[in-house]
This record gives sequence, structure tokens and C-alpha cells, in this order.
Amino acid sequence: MLPDDCLFCRLYRDGDHVASTEGFVAIRDINPQAETHLLVIPERHIDSFHDIGEFSPDEAKRMLDFLAEVAAHEGLSDYRLVVNAGPEAGQTVFHLHWHVLGGKLTRRMT
Ligand code: 5GP
Ligand code: ZN
Repeated sequence: MLPDDCLFCRLYRDGDHVASTEGFVAIRDINPQAETHLLVIPERHIDSFHDIGEFSPDEAKRMLDFLAEVAAHEGLSDYRLVVNAGPEAGQTVFHLHWHVLGGKLTRRMT
């Protein structure tokens, strides 16, 4: 899929961002599965976590730091980070993203 046709490339550019830093944004999931359910999306399009080797160590570290910042920004002291890597693991949007889940799960992640 070309990035121009990619939902998360589009939401990176035009979405309603809860938080952002150079190269990364957080948005609210349209179909929340917990009391707080955010998605952290990198600007750089890789299809899935399977391709994480394309990120430099600096980018990967900044992504992890941003995940922690987003959780703190939402007032979450405890939370889950989930990446569905590949369709068999439930990935439905093929642009790398992290789920940041806080509070009670309202639906089971499938
Ligand atoms: P995946 O199943 O690939 O791990 O996660 C994709 C997530 O994207 C799902 O939790 C789904 O609810 C969310 N999602 C799909 N389309 C949209 C959208 O247009 N806007 C937002 N904010 N979230 C979306
Ligand atoms: Zn994309």
C-alpha cells in the first residue's frame, strides 16, 4: 500500500492529535477498548512492527520515550502497551502503531 493511501499516514497529517513530538503523534482510538485508548503513530510509514529494524536506535528510543510521555499526559500511572504485529495477531491497519490502554478494558482485544 502506498503511504498516500494509508489511513494512519493521513491521520498523522490531518488527525486530531492528543499529543505530538517530532515524528510521532498520539490520537484517540475510534473504537476504544479501554477507559483510555490512544494510538501512537510514527510519521515514518512501516507496515508493521516486523519492519522495526528500519528505525534507527535514536528513533526507536524517542518512540518509547513518547509512549511514556503520552501515558503521563493522560494521567495514567499504570497502563498497557500493545502492538499487534501481523494479521494473525489482529493487526488491521498496516502502518506501525502502538495501543496505549489505561483503566479497565471495556472490550477484549481480538
Ligand atoms: P490494529 O487492529 O491494527 O492493531 O489497530 C487498529 C486500530 O485503529 C483499531 O483499534 C481501530 O479501532 C483503530 N482505527 C481504525 N480506523 C480508525 C480511524 O479512522 N480513526 C481512529 N482514531 N482510529 C481508527
Ligand atoms: Zn502509513
